[in-house]
Amino acid sequence: MKVYDQVVELAKRRGFFWPSFSIYGGESGLYDYGPLGVLLRDNIVRIWKESYLADDAIFIDTPVIVPASVFRASGHLDKFADLATECSKCHNRQKLETVLEASGFHNIIKTVPEANEFLANNVVKCIVCGNRITSATEFKLMFRMPSQGSVGDLYLRPETAQGIFVNFKLLNNFYRNRLPMAVAQLGKGFRNEISPRQSLIRLKEFSQGEVEVFVDPQKKFWKDFTGSHRLNLLPRSGAPVTAEVTSSEAFPLMSSNSMSYFIDKTASILRDVGINLDSVRFRQVPLNDLAHYSSDTWDVEVRIDDDWVEVVGIADRNDLANHEKSSGETMSVKMEDRTITPSIIEPSYGIDRIFISVMIHSFRTRENGFKVLSLPESVSPYHAAVFPLVNKDGLDKLAESFFASLRKKDPYVVYDQSGSIGRRYARQDEIGTPYCITFDSQTLQDSTVTVRERDSAKQVRFRTDDLVSAGIIGNPAIRDAFRPSVPQ
Ligand code: AMP
Repeated sequence: MKVYDQVVELAKRRGFFWPSFSIYGGESGLYDYGPLGVLLRDNIVRIWKESYLADDAIFIDTPVIVPASVFRASGHLDKFADLATECSKCHNRQKLETVLEASGFHNIIKTVPEANEFLANNVVKCIVCGNRITSATEFKLMFRMPSQGSVGDLYLRPETAQGIFVNFKLLNNFYRNRLPMAVAQLGKGFRNEISPRQSLIRLKEFSQGEVEVFVDPQKKFWKDFTGSHRLNLLPRSGAPVTAEVTSSEAFPLMSSNSMSYFIDKTASILRDVGINLDSVRFRQVPLNDLAHYSSDTWDVEVRIDDDWVEVVGIADRNDLANHEKSSGETMSVKMEDRTITPSIIEPSYGIDRIFISVMIHSFRTRENGFKVLSLPESVSPYHAAVFPLVNKDGLDKLAESFFASLRKKDPYVVYDQSGSIGRRYARQDEIGTPYCITFDSQTLQDSTVTVRERDSAKQVRFRTDDLVSAGIIGNPAIRDAFRPSVPQ
């Protein structure tokens, strides 16, 4: 069974995520985050946010409902579409790219006439019933609202970025007219996907963390730095290379200092949330496959079983000039020697895809068949679980009162007194809780408890008052006791 399928099964059973509205038959491309999913996702978002705060980014929150004028200027109204096919026999709808790939073609086709000519001259089959596909149509990806706004149609945004671009002047004023400037927004994006699939990977409603980095177009400079990871780089021309972005092999591949800086930073964020960088590649998008707004893009792809899934796109964009032309508002900034309209480097993080990648890269099966999520401490939904070994001899009362004190220090703890101790450990392993604290008969004599570390299953005794005063996460005594098995 694929790891993806095992994780989707675990996610539903243990409350991470599941299909929405299932009592009414469900709706493809819509998913709920359950109780543990909300906690895990919050932690991923916090790490992303803190990483950008450390880089002096500012944050904004703008509406998901957007007037058509914005998307006319950005080009989305005209160009944000996929080519789609519909089987004349079984009526299955797919992206053209998907049916081409299933029939062994990897061509990049951009227009309906091009597609129709290709389908007339090549045998491309429906992926469901095998019937020949002979034509393609253009399928618009933005959801249009049924009601009109005061100045025309309204759309659900397909990306959060435009809310930042249209506010550029106000934001730069807030930032005291300095450049470079990084502005981030976390929020929902909506795309009318032709064939939503693979749970969180292709959704109609998804979460993005987008960062728009405004730079001087002549230099596209963010800051001097040294690369901190060896990355798998797939340039659009030339051989793949594994190197630091600032190394002599990699540097010529990067279009700017900003592009290489944010590639390296993205690697740090992905590693910190629990994604294995050996199973990540940075692929420079071929020129004929770039989005309409981009002159250069590196897709960050994560391996999931035998597939590579794009989780982040880092694009070089030029949207301010379009908004300046369409709105009449000036988007330029006065520098010492000249006036410029900034270029934009945009790392765009798909939170849902990162979330499922974290679960997949953390998933292990023990020799006995039990499942473990080896999440880093910083993202696991709970930091610790507290158990009385038996519910008698006053152990349960002691454990409950310890739990109440610990929870004042750290709310991300859970209490469990039901089932055998083995089952309780297994339940916590499956949801990634790094430590289980057990009250046993020895606790009654010396006020010590066992702390069991998830990945090694090693147990060490600690005094209860030391655990309450120093907490669990970041407690140096716990860290030392279980080194090196604790993922840092
Ligand atoms: P894009 O603007 O297409 O480069 O998207 C930026 C990021 O958003 C991608 O790297 C994905 O992680 C995420 N994303 C885009 N479309 C979807 C979708 N339909 N469902 C889930 N995530 C998506």
